Amino acid sequence: MVDIIERFSEYETPISHIKSPLFERHGVKHLFTRRRGGVSEGVYESLNFACGTVSPDSAENVLENHRRAAAALGMRAEDICKSYQTHSSAVLTVGRAERGTGVTKPPFDTDADGLVTAEEGVVLSVRGADCVTVLLCDVRRGICGACHSGWRGTAGRIAARTVEAMKALGADPKDIIAAIGPSARSCCYNVNEELERAFLAADSNFAGCFTRREGKLFLDLQKAVSLTLMKSGLSDANISDCGECTVCDSINYFSHRRSGAARGTLSAFIVL
Ligand SMILES: [Zn+2]
Repeated sequence: MVDIIERFSEYETPISHIKSPLFERHGVKHLFTRRRGGVSEGVYESLNFACGTVSPDSAENVLENHRRAAAALGMRAEDICKSYQTHSSAVLTVGRAERGTGVTKPPFDTDADGLVTAEEGVVLSVRGADCVTVLLCDVRRGICGACHSGWRGTAGRIAARTVEAMKALGADPKDIIAAIGPSARSCCYNVNEELERAFLAADSNFAGCFTRREGKLFLDLQKAVSLTLMKSGLSDANISDCGECTVCDSINYFSHRRSGAARGTLSAFIVL
């Protein structure tokens, strides 16, 4: 397997964010947010995408942050489609009719941790604060997807299910490019043996994603996601991982491992 980590392009305006050079080469509109350039305060300072639980952030702030992120893509908050994430392996197919859902319109009736579309102008959003966010695009046919892949979703192969949903719209895995966003990495992602057993039960190939240091067990979630994508037919040359750890980098990222519930939430966006 080739080294899929590449340095993402960094932008500070109108909000702080990074982009995959692989996606930029293909002209795919997308971004992964960092934490500056929003309007939220306190533990949510400042580019926060969820209301949270500790003295919750206001819905107005979260909406304004979505507005700013959409503007960075030349879009509006009304174009964003956002599902309620529950660490499931469920994927929803959406279109222009679903624009604004969960942002400027009421949320979906069902949970979903993956979204796909073949329609232009629909901004897909997935969020996390340590969990892996993955963006996908069939660059020949114009079909894109996004998923939220924490440990539960990764063991449940949410990335493979998102590729399946794209295939149902006509995508060919050979033409799909993937970008893996800022998330907790094996430097920091200490897990227990029970979790390792759950991963190995899901796929024995995940054995290579665990390492032991000083008696502790660590999981390389990004490697597990990449293996899942390659098993779905993506080429390793078509996978781009930013290599950034949300737990290590408090300047740029929110992290649940570092801050517990008293933290903001990052987001990733893609639009055809
Ligand atoms: Zn780290």
